[in-house]
Amino acid sequence: MAAIELTGLTKDYPGGVRALDSLELTIADGEFFALLGPSGCGKTTILRTVAGLEQATAGTVAIGGADVTRLPPGRRDVAMVFQDYALFPHMTVTDNVAYPLRIRRVPTAERRAKAAETAGQLGLTKQLDRRPGQLSGGQQQRVALARAMACHPKVFLFDEPLSNLDARMRLEARTFLKRLQRELAVTTVFVTHDQAEALALADRIAVLSDGRVRQVGTPTEVYRRPANTFVASFIGSTPMNLLAGTVTADGHVQVGDARLPAPAAAVFLPGGTPVVYGIRPEYVRLVAGPAADAVSGEITVVENLGSSQLVTLEGPAGTVQAVIPEDTDARPGTTAHASPRPDRVLLYDPDDDGTLL
Ligand code: ATP
Repeated sequence: MAAIELTGLTKDYPGGVRALDSLELTIADGEFFALLGPSGCGKTTILRTVAGLEQATAGTVAIGGADVTRLPPGRRDVAMVFQDYALFPHMTVTDNVAYPLRIRRVPTAERRAKAAETAGQLGLTKQLDRRPGQLSGGQQQRVALARAMACHPKVFLFDEPLSNLDARMRLEARTFLKRLQRELAVTTVFVTHDQAEALALADRIAVLSDGRVRQVGTPTEVYRRPANTFVASFIGSTPMNLLAGTVTADGHVQVGDARLPAPAAAVFLPGGTPVVYGIRPEYVRLVAGPAADAVSGEITVVENLGSSQLVTLEGPAGTVQAVIPEDTDARPGTTAHASPRPDRVLLYDPDDDGTLL
């Protein structure tokens, strides 16, 4: 069992930077877990603290039920893959992969065989005698993975594992990584600032800001029901529309001059309650003519997304974006009417840090 439990984890760096603030996080055994958040939110610090490369200022790190907070990295049974892969440039693939076994004083023949076997599992058999400089980015990444796998650690830690690959390689490596993790079933924590990557790969995601966890959930949960406006605007290929509105006496929401449908919960809010009206652009459609349940505005921008178009409307309700089919006619400068899909509307509390109502 190699669940990871972070309890009250705080990390202060010299100079008064609080990188982690009483963080609580439990990662299940065998889980593929993403740490997602904007630059500087503390993702790498969490990873380094789990690895033992940073000491926590307060709080504890437990792996497989054992408190490892004060253990050095070498005694935690974790393997970390760094963003730049940190391969030894003068060593061959075999020697790079065998390196951690050498540190553990595994006899030469045994470690070379083990390294060749692991590298083979990752499709590197033909590259065993090459040096990192003679490999593609994707191959270098696999060498780094093989090196991490060679010691059969309890936990894998990946810091932005795909960031050095070009867009196409990234997709390939993503699928590869997901399959590998399924096969190995080793608890894996990976850091990314790319929400699409987190949604595609992870069993569960922790969304972070300012050293705090803002939501933990499956990709579906954080996409469908973001717990606050921060998560709502961070997850999704286009951010959720967040419009200032007021609950009406009959349980709708007044947004500008439109009276929009609201979730059933709105009925329990007193008329006049200010809310943030959340609807993803994917769940907004353009309708003909002005309608009570649609916001009207002028189309200011139309972006071609390939299979769809992202349309931006400016009107009395503010700025609203809609994803519409690629064959729908939408022209900048014309008036359009945008209607939200009622069952996908979420209301947030503007007075409580944008928490889901
Ligand atoms: P990025 O996505 O940019 O890598 P991150 O989410 O991984 O960011 P961290 O690298 O964990 O963030 O940094 C968290 C905060 O701690 C940031 O404000 C950063 O400037 C600060 N920080 C990180 N390392 C140090 C250090 N060695 N000394 C001082 N401050 C640091």
